[in-house]
Amino acid sequence: MSGYRGRFAPSPTGPLHAGSLVAALASWLDARAAHGTWLVRIEDLDPPRELAGAAALILRQLAACGLESDEPVLFQGARSDIYERAFEALRASGLVYGCACSRKDIETATSAQPGWPAGVYPGTCARRTVPRNEIRAWRIRVPSTVVGFVDRCAGRIAQDLARDVGDFVVKRADGLWAYQLAVVVDDGAQHVSDVVRGADLLDNTPRQIFLQRALGLPTPRYLHVPLVVDANGAKLSKQTLAAPLDARDPLPELERAARHLGLPPIGARSVSGFLRAATAAWRERYPLPAP
Ligand code: GLU
Repeated sequence: MSGYRGRFAPSPTGPLHAGSLVAALASWLDARAAHGTWLVRIEDLDPPRELAGAAALILRQLAACGLESDEPVLFQGARSDIYERAFEALRASGLVYGCACSRKDIETATSAQPGWPAGVYPGTCARRTVPRNEIRAWRIRVPSTVVGFVDRCAGRIAQDLARDVGDFVVKRADGLWAYQLAVVVDDGAQHVSDVVRGADLLDNTPRQIFLQRALGLPTPRYLHVPLVVDANGAKLSKQTLAAPLDARDPLPELERAARHLGLPPIGARSVSGFLRAATAAWRERYPLPAP
């Protein structure tokens, strides 16, 4: 085994579909091509959005495709104490502040400023002390600097956090941990060296790199693979009820996923044969950059 550690981190909001299989397969192939370790982490951070039994179903679907975690599966739902500790560290460094704004308050504040970019928090509560009993969410203060990285597929990506994102939520108004905080803490805790996932998360990455730096964690390498879209060009997602993967007949699904990833037709007769040949094809198509 090399020092490579990759992961697939599904949210259990529904069964695996063609789009999530692409992300799972890409991260698995990259880990195997590098003789590394592949982990599965269930991101069960948001119970209201979850579907009962989805985590177990996803793990069964992955297993049918020959994709099994090399270490015990991590469930984020059981790790609140760990996120709390990271949150307290950020608070102690003065980066985090309580925010009393509702969605409506933010809308009102930003609509008064013509040309204000959608979704960017205007910083209202960063400039005042919010009484404890009025705090809804907790935000992290972002500096006006450009955070950049080189993605193995998308190339050079740069984002001005203050201009493009604004101070973002690390603990939500409903008391739940924000994805951004939990993913950074767990990529760090699991010593993930390589994040391979869907391109919808490309513009989340500078936020995650910023949080890694704030928490003294290393930044992994990133590879964001093209999204699978439906006939209308929308991302396939569990919320839009994409067809679940047929675990009884995984080979055609795996072939389709490989083709989407730009691999040549594999044409294997078994899942293990497919995975072996696809790993070799992956190594050619997405070589690891020299250290
Ligand atoms: N849980 C996220 C999702 O299902 C993936 C997060 C990640 O890979 O960083 O889209």
